[in-house]
Amino acid sequence: MSPETTPTRLDLKKTEQLTIEWQDGRTCTYSVSLLRSMCPCALCKLQRDQRDPHQLMTEQKKKKTALTVLPGNYAEPIVVKDASLVGNYAMKIEWSDGHDSGIYSFEYLRSICPT
Ligand SMILES: [Zn+2]
Repeated sequence: MSPETTPTRLDLKKTEQLTIEWQDGRTCTYSVSLLRSMCPCALCKLQRDQRDPHQLMTEQKKKKTALTVLPGNYAEPIVVKDASLVGNYAMKIEWSDGHDSGIYSFEYLRSICPT
């Protein structure tokens, strides 16, 4: 594993955010809603691929009227119910909506780092 994908500290606040400090000195903070919407499982990936990015923006602007149930666009905020490490390369997150098939590899988390 390279320093960029090796976490030295993982700090999960189940209703707010995940903070990861990496071995190369970078710190990434992910909101739980971002993590849910970026779920790497096959089903969520398919749903993301099928969405038109332009349409996504329109939906977000109309959030109060358009309540399409898709990752990252829920009426109620989704929070983390449970999380566990998978080997030394990934973490598995169980969500309050019952979804638990997403395995977030550290490589993937590093690639979606928003900060
Ligand atoms: Zn998923």
